[in-house]
Amino acid sequence: LILVLFSPTLQPLLLTYSLTSMSARLRLHNKVAIITGAASGIGLETSLQFAAEGARVVLSDVNEEAVHKAAELVLKNFPTSEAFGIKADVSKETDIAGVVEAAVVKFGRLDVMFNNAGIMHPADDDAVNTEEKIWDLTQAINVKGVWYGCKHAVIAMRNNKPEPEKGLGIGGSVINVASFVCKVGAATPQLAYTASKGAVLAMTRELAMVHAREGIRFNSLCPGPIKTPLLMDFLNTPEKLNRRLVHCPMGRFGEAVEQAKSVVFLASDDSSYVNGTDFMVDGGLIACYVTAE
Ligand code: NAD
Repeated sequence: LILVLFSPTLQPLLLTYSLTSMSARLRLHNKVAIITGAASGIGLETSLQFAAEGARVVLSDVNEEAVHKAAELVLKNFPTSEAFGIKADVSKETDIAGVVEAAVVKFGRLDVMFNNAGIMHPADDDAVNTEEKIWDLTQAINVKGVWYGCKHAVIAMRNNKPEPEKGLGIGGSVINVASFVCKVGAATPQLAYTASKGAVLAMTRELAMVHAREGIRFNSLCPGPIKTPLLMDFLNTPEKLNRRLVHCPMGRFGEAVEQAKSVVFLASDDSSYVNGTDFMVDGGLIACYVTAE
């Protein structure tokens, strides 16, 4: 060992060996991942976590300027990572097909699809007061957008060939974002949103069964209330905020990075036998009757 440490010829070998074994330990080493809604909140934090874990990351979002800034942020934080941003509206199939094609052209394959983009419209309300156009817009982004993401991920993942030298196999992992609100009822209604997330859960379970023998896993991520623009722009008065906070067993809303770390698990081979789950990351909210004081 002393010989290796002090020998000028052997030192570069040692460095290469250390870097190789370090990168081999990264949980998403070499995996090619697409994230929709990557410019903000959970999508942005997941892009950073994916890059930190060695993935090659394609960030997509309907907000073109913000998605390019997000990709720059990833590269600034992880200069050796590979990432780029691309504009796509998930409710348009040609946009999603374009993102998957861009990933495959640039990186040669697709291993992880994180269908994260979603909206909670401020005019979403109860059965009587929700307008049809709000209902349709919500389903188009939150449900049809996830279907398009799943469809084009399957088409690409079916072409994955094992690349043992890179630690890559067949199939892939698809993670669809649902929400805790489709597991419980809320007297503060957002009917279109809640229905859309219930559809994501049901669709994901079925896809998990259909594609299990192809090695393509599907799981739903069910976040609790998280401190991102989606929720915080909506809870814009102390009354609205506290009406929800009292139901959080841990006495706080979650952080986007806490979702992102769970997504890394579901995307990685650490979760190789996790399939078709409603993966709750809600601080215990749906298990709650009365919270501690
Ligand atoms: P966010 O508003 O911070 O980010 C959402 C991103 O999606 C934005 O960058 C936005 O531009 C993008 N987007 C919106 N419409 C799009 C479209 N048509 N095509 C492509 N991109 C689009 O929201 P977030 O809190 O990070 O939410 C991410 C996901 O998590 C959503 O599906 C949301 O429903 C879900 N979720 C959030 C919470 C929460 O409390 N924040 C709780 C449960 C579930």
